[in-house]
Amino acid sequence: MRKLSDPQVTIETIKKYEFAFQKRFGQNFLIDEHVINKIIAAADITREDTVLEIGPGIGTMTQYLAERAGRVFAVEIDKNLIPILGETLSEYDNVTIINDDILKVDINRIVEEENGGRPLKVVANLPYYITTPIIMGLFEQHVPLLSITVMVQKEVAERMQAGPGTKDYGALSLAVAYYAKPYIAANVPPNCFIPRPNVGSAVIRLTRYNEPPVQVCDDRLMFKLIRASFSQRRKTLQNGIANSGELDFTKEDVRKALAAMGLNENIRGENLGLEEFARLSNMLGENCPEK
Ligand code: SAM
Repeated sequence: MRKLSDPQVTIETIKKYEFAFQKRFGQNFLIDEHVINKIIAAADITREDTVLEIGPGIGTMTQYLAERAGRVFAVEIDKNLIPILGETLSEYDNVTIINDDILKVDINRIVEEENGGRPLKVVANLPYYITTPIIMGLFEQHVPLLSITVMVQKEVAERMQAGPGTKDYGALSLAVAYYAKPYIAANVPPNCFIPRPNVGSAVIRLTRYNEPPVQVCDDRLMFKLIRASFSQRRKTLQNGIANSGELDFTKEDVRKALAAMGLNENIRGENLGLEEFARLSNMLGENCPEK
């Protein structure tokens, strides 16, 4: 079968099935083989690998993944795409399509039952409207994975790499810094997709650390503190944490911890690095050694 990365083949396939693009699902299909090859190269896929693809669309990148990986699981929410995938992937017997919402799929179960507990590589041209919940979900549910190589909105790729004190810095930057080493593999212009998105895109690879770069006694607490600190960017850390519905600390608790760390009591979350959030959480946590 001719490859869907040929724009003509994509257009013919869409017409044949009278497929209507759904904006609400962030559907922008790749039509550039060069870009797909860059994603595959950045993901470093071999026959040893099991890949989780999020949102295969009509199967454009899935065709390339199936040719290189041992196995591919592809999770697609749009039921109208399932018959199309049945045709475009008919040549490959190593692809399993799951018609579901990626945010509801129990990926840990797939890893256990279908992959003998071995870690996955995630590869995707992500639906941009849920980039952050997808990435945070993969990390926070501790899904066994080696890397995440994804197309995202260019600004989001920059947020993932941002450091303290910059405008792009936030909860997502800290989650990435804690779990993985980021590397931007390519910038991708709108004309590589059909329909064209109205934002620039970038391919980012997040290589999962074996051990996090900081010691945290309760990482769930640390991420609650991080979310509280950035939920109202203009507030001080003390106020952000004391006002959080997820946490039970008073302003005084936070002030004391900041003083012990030698930090100004009016400091904002955007000025704390990962190491400082780790320390703060180790000081505030119930059963943590620094308490
Ligand atoms: N991989 C294809 C490509 O590169 O041409 C399509 C990428 S398109 C940007 C995003 C895909 O994710 C669409 O097929 C869309 O239907 C699917 N999608 C959107 N929300 C989803 C969700 N919550 N769970 C699974 N798939 C989703």
